[in-house]
Amino acid sequence: MQNYFLLILLPMLLGLWAQFRVKSAFKRYSDEPVGSGRSGAETARDILSAAGIHDVEVAEINGMLGDHYDPTHKRLCLSSEVYNNASVAAVGIAAHEVGHAIQHAKAYWALQWRTSLVPVTMLASQLLPFVIFGGFFFHFTGLIKLGIVCYTALAVFQLITLPVEFDASRRAKIILQDMGIVRPGNEALGVNRVLDAAALTYVAAFVAALGNLVYLLLASRNRD
Ligand SMILES: [Zn+2]
Repeated sequence: MQNYFLLILLPMLLGLWAQFRVKSAFKRYSDEPVGSGRSGAETARDILSAAGIHDVEVAEINGMLGDHYDPTHKRLCLSSEVYNNASVAAVGIAAHEVGHAIQHAKAYWALQWRTSLVPVTMLASQLLPFVIFGGFFFHFTGLIKLGIVCYTALAVFQLITLPVEFDASRRAKIILQDMGIVRPGNEALGVNRVLDAAALTYVAAFVAALGNLVYLLLASRNRD
C-alpha cells in the first residue's frame, strides 16, 4: 500500500499538478500580446527561415496543447490557439517546436535516440495492458517479466525525452530574444514560465514511468 502511494499515486499527482500549471500558464500568457505582433505560425516561419530551414511545413491542427514537431513528415504542427495568436504563450510554444526542427536539421543526438526508440515504445505501451492484466490476475510470472521489460522501455524513452525537451526550450528562449521577437522583461518572463511549466510535465512523465517500473520490480520480487 505504501509502495503504491509512493510509486504510483504520488507521481500521478505530480503529473496532474504539472498539467494544471501548463494550462494556467498558457491561459495567462495567451492573453498577453507579444510586441512583435506576429502570430505563432508567422513566428515559426520567421525562425525557420532565419535558421536556413526551408523544407519544414508549418501546419494548423486541432486540439489544445497538442503542438509537436513531426520529424518523419518534417511538419511543425501547431494548435489553432498557437497558430493564429500573437501572444507570449503562442510564440513561446511555436519557438519551442521550431527548436525540435532545428535539432532534427542538426542531427541532435538525443532527438535521434528518441526517434529510434519510438517503435519500441509504441509496442511496449500496446502490450502493457495485456501484460499487467495477465500478470496480476492470472499470475503468469513470464508476463510480469515482460511487463518489467515494457516499463523499462517506457522509462528509458521518457528519460531521453528530457534532454530533447530542455534543449528545444533553451534554443527557443535564446532565439526569441536574439531575433527581437520577445522583449526582455515581462514578455521574456512569460515565455520562461510557459516553457518551464511544459518541461515539468516531461519530468513528471519520467517519474511516473520510473515509479511504475520500480513498483513492478518490487511486486515481482515479493511474488518469488
Ligand atoms: Zn517539445
